[in-house]
Amino acid sequence: MVGTGQSGNSAVPSPQALQPALPPAQVQPPSPPPATYTLTPERRAQAIAYSRSLYVLYFLGTLLSLGIYILLWRAGIAVRFRQWARKVSRRHFVQCLIFIPLFVTAATLLNLPLDFYSGYVLEHQFGLSTQGIASWFGDWGKSLGIVAAIGVIVAWVFYAVVRRSPRRSWFYFWLATIPLVLTYILIEPYAIEPLFYKFTPLQKTHPALVEQIEAMLKHAGVSVPRTRIFEMDASSRTKAVDAYVSGLGASKRVVVWDTTLRRMGPDELLLVLGHETGHYALHHIPKEFVLDEAVALLFFFLGYLAVNSLMEMVGSRPGVEGIGDLASLPLVLFVLTLLVFLSAPLVNGISRHYEHQADQFGLEVAYGIVPDPNAAEVRSLQILGEEDLADPEPNPFIKFWLYTHPPLDDRIRFAAAYKPWAEAKPLKLLSKPR
Ligand SMILES: [Zn+2]
Repeated sequence: MVGTGQSGNSAVPSPQALQPALPPAQVQPPSPPPATYTLTPERRAQAIAYSRSLYVLYFLGTLLSLGIYILLWRAGIAVRFRQWARKVSRRHFVQCLIFIPLFVTAATLLNLPLDFYSGYVLEHQFGLSTQGIASWFGDWGKSLGIVAAIGVIVAWVFYAVVRRSPRRSWFYFWLATIPLVLTYILIEPYAIEPLFYKFTPLQKTHPALVEQIEAMLKHAGVSVPRTRIFEMDASSRTKAVDAYVSGLGASKRVVVWDTTLRRMGPDELLLVLGHETGHYALHHIPKEFVLDEAVALLFFFLGYLAVNSLMEMVGSRPGVEGIGDLASLPLVLFVLTLLVFLSAPLVNGISRHYEHQADQFGLEVAYGIVPDPNAAEVRSLQILGEEDLADPEPNPFIKFWLYTHPPLDDRIRFAAAYKPWAEAKPLKLLSKPR
């Protein structure tokens, strides 16, 4: 993604369409744009207030999830759901088919107040959302269905592994996550994303821009077929601007939000596309997958130790028959939530590295095509920050813990300063000589 930096809600919205801070690309500004992230005092106050709310909600959300799993555990709710599932069938898969949707629905309903506040109330409060309440609940229902469906498969595999090989379950389950996650990444653009948004090939809506993108990529010796570049109707939900890369192999694609297309001039858009095609050309999705799986292996082992000792401590009291029992799910998810939380600095640090690389790639690929790639990238990031209310001054701990992208001010400074061509140095990421 181009991103504003914060993790958490990636589909999160953004601000009012403001006056452009700078003229569009074809009209070159008389002096270079400021090399820092600059907001009006009012906008700056909004950006700080909004970002702080997101940070608080992130930590609060983690605590709430932990509390919900304790409740589902201590109140014997998971045990009751498992009893119902056993009455229906003795087959493990059928039991998952009954138990998981019940469990996911209960947990999601308990989470609803916070989800509604962060996904609907807050976004409207800051003028970022364009979504009506019915549409928001429609999305909420679809997400619930998706989580329940995926949950059935994952829980089925997890409990089958735990029952067959309790001691090495952490390792075998980790092995199983490899094809599961790869399949998810592969089918996401076909099976998940179209449930929420419409995707139109960019060459249908912006043929001239696609020509320019192709010229830019060809110039760099990189190829992204034009049928792999899409426009997404993000404006049906948000005013925020963004773009991203998803899929794997045959489903790999670059997606630009329609809000971004409306809000940016052609040079800024080429820089956005330069960043995204950087993810594509530098194979960031498979590379991050490998690194994240390595992190997961370590954390699954720690999780295995934690689940076992917790089971010994609080164990059978609420009628749970061991870790192989479906009713242990709240305990397993309690530990998983903690691990996801604790692994965030590592996973987000990996992401920040690749996001920085994509920024660098974007500048290199735009050089020689866009008259002043540095100025265009600065303007593009500036628009992104203003529209999405990116935090102008995240504190170092917040950056370390939850930033998937370098803070916007760092990115803008880099965008203004990185020009190896001016110093007769070789390009770092594009090997093809110009
Ligand atoms: Zn990115």
